[in-house]
Amino acid sequence: MNIYIMVDAEGISGIYDSEQVMSSMARYNEGRELMVQDINACVEACKEAGVDKIYVRDCHGSGSNVIWSKLSSLADYYIIGYTGQDRFPGLDECDGVILLGYHSMAGTPGGILEHTMSSKSVQNYWINGKKAGEIAIDAGIVGDRGKPVIMVSGDDKACVEAKALLPGVVTAEVKKGITWKGGMLLPPQKAYALIKEKTKEAIAKLPGLKPLVYDKPIRLRVELTERSMLPLQYSKPYMKIIDGRTYEVEGSTMEEALFRLG
Ligand SMILES: [Zn+2]
Repeated sequence: MNIYIMVDAEGISGIYDSEQVMSSMARYNEGRELMVQDINACVEACKEAGVDKIYVRDCHGSGSNVIWSKLSSLADYYIIGYTGQDRFPGLDECDGVILLGYHSMAGTPGGILEHTMSSKSVQNYWINGKKAGEIAIDAGIVGDRGKPVIMVSGDDKACVEAKALLPGVVTAEVKKGITWKGGMLLPPQKAYALIKEKTKEAIAKLPGLKPLVYDKPIRLRVELTERSMLPLQYSKPYMKIIDGRTYEVEGSTMEEALFRLG
């Protein structure tokens, strides 16, 4: 059995402030260290559970956040940097997906660093008319390729969001959100132990979990925070402008719809 670990930053244990996840900020290196610790705990647990191959992708921002020299050698591949139109390179080799360090959708009350794709430009996303965040988008992308999300780690709000969307998914609640930039956090060693325990539990459950497959074509709608960011519809038959800040695209897969947003 092979496992794909997709790693974001905002739901990593010990992270609660945007200063820890933005490369221009003073505390960014602390955030990078924390990402590595959660990754290593998850990778170790996969190995201990008998996983054959482990693929880990850094998907936060530029995709180049992890500290190379500190990553566990138990993984088989680290997928780093810009990956073009494939959000999950190597996924076809894997049987299940872990979303590590994920966060709740934009606008979630008390969700630590809540946002959807861009906290600066996006107010809301909808998939087929239902409000959606990054857990819903990524679960849909891997679902179209036949892979179930088996575990999600993050704050309590991200875990609730995951459970509502993915029946049977295992969650690792490494913190509780109080505001968008403050929470009640597990101490480091307790968080790593929880990630390990939940990773093993999820791997044991994998055979019974189903991929999330949305009805097709996918309708992906975005409400922007500013009118000036609305794309031009010219020569894009799959795109519909809804109002001065909102547009929608159609795609034959979740991934196609995501990339058609522009
Ligand atoms: Zn992120």
